[in-house]
Amino acid sequence: MRNFSKSKLLALRQCPKRLWLEIHRPDLREDSEATQASFQVGYQVGDVAQRIYDPEGLGAVIDIEHEGFNRALERTRELLLSDQPVFEAGFAANGALAFADVMLPVQTDGERAWRMVEVKSSTSVKDYHRDDVAVQAFVARSAGVRLHSIALAHIDSTWTYPGDGDYRGLLKENDLTEEAFARSSEVKTWIAQAQSVDAMPSEPAIATGTQCDAPFPCGFYNYCSRDEPKALHPVDWLPYFGAKARELAAQGIIDLAGVSDDLLNARQLRVKTHTLANTVYFDAEGAAADLSPHGLPAYFLDFETIQFAVPIWKGTRPYQQITFQFSLHILDASGQLEHAEFLDLSGDDPAQSFSLALVAACGDVGPVYVYNAAFERSRISELAIRFPHYSAALREINERLVDLLPIARERYYHPSQQGSWSIKKVLPAVVPELSYDALDGVQDGGMAMEAFLEAIHPKTSAERKAQIKQQLLAYCKLDTYAMVRLWQVFAGRTDMRL
Ligand code: SF4
Repeated sequence: MRNFSKSKLLALRQCPKRLWLEIHRPDLREDSEATQASFQVGYQVGDVAQRIYDPEGLGAVIDIEHEGFNRALERTRELLLSDQPVFEAGFAANGALAFADVMLPVQTDGERAWRMVEVKSSTSVKDYHRDDVAVQAFVARSAGVRLHSIALAHIDSTWTYPGDGDYRGLLKENDLTEEAFARSSEVKTWIAQAQSVDAMPSEPAIATGTQCDAPFPCGFYNYCSRDEPKALHPVDWLPYFGAKARELAAQGIIDLAGVSDDLLNARQLRVKTHTLANTVYFDAEGAAADLSPHGLPAYFLDFETIQFAVPIWKGTRPYQQITFQFSLHILDASGQLEHAEFLDLSGDDPAQSFSLALVAACGDVGPVYVYNAAFERSRISELAIRFPHYSAALREINERLVDLLPIARERYYHPSQQGSWSIKKVLPAVVPELSYDALDGVQDGGMAMEAFLEAIHPKTSAERKAQIKQQLLAYCKLDTYAMVRLWQVFAGRTDMRL
């Protein structure tokens, strides 16, 4: 009989078909880049957890890849006779197997017992974590481990890194012992279900649905949806229509053409009408009126940021978005366009020099246009708190922010936007000669983050770093030039050569 790993049992919890495919057709699985990136973050947090729970380095790490499965289980048994922390301890019993992130020896009633900690890179306890620890506790106890308690440790996003490799406080523990111990019979049921699913001669007949995205995007989606009817104009293109879209899908309505107008608000109706008719909506008068209170000079600003689950710079928090680059186009009162920029690839915390450069570049008067102001506003506020010396000047920039996104949303729609007002969709619609596709290397924010990480890595060559620098500068510059051109069209200033 097969032993089901914890991840297989969690796959079953998401969808029995997923479990069957993972066992019998793993070749059909296509993990998204986001899923793969989340695995990397998990490894990083796991490494730091070992340092937190074993600061003196006295513990043992089981490496299943090199030791092999049987040896890993055997060595776990040996190590649990000692009094040292054990990482990645493996257990198999009652048809399931599991590897525990952290096992810490404790004494209870004069005997050695173990405290198990599961470490997650999320910032809170999720429902599927509760299933996860229930399986861990069940397998370890079934294997004869004297388990004193089980906790789930996740990232504490309010904690600030004090520097010098001191990560105490990064993880926040939640004791889940009572509920995990109380769910043994549930876990037994999951194992029995997994055995039945595994024994099926072919995959269970399950249609795609909400389970395909929760709690994780399923890597078999392309396979499972291959024969499902595809909409020419998917209902998903309607903004903020998620719940109703799922209701309609259950009734077989997947195309905009089948959606009753009565269900739609004004913006959704606009998307439907202009998408189906393949026409452009542009309220030029309204857009010009929105922009008329703001004169010249005008500034067009965009940031690039990086975030780390495990902070690397003193004074920063886990997952804090740290600004490392800006581009700023400046349109002066005479209609002359200039450009300023900042990019720090030194590998040191870029935030202070970023603040200084931003304050110097933004001048004293004139609107500062951004696209989706909440993002820039939050970053500037955070910088103002971190660097009191620039606080007043940074807050003044915040006062001058003017958001182009709501104007675009309200006044413009092109069918090629497919229900999105991201600047990547709006720019080629409004200014067809400009497109992000023409950029070399970095073409979106996610790629900019990856490029930044590669550039600051000590092993990256100077030549490659120079190439990345050029790509990042070109990408961010296009973002703010796109805003200039959107402003030009929306403000009705096509008389200007920009
Ligand atoms: S894509 Fe959906 S239906 Fe297919 S295996 Fe995954 S969760 Fe199940």
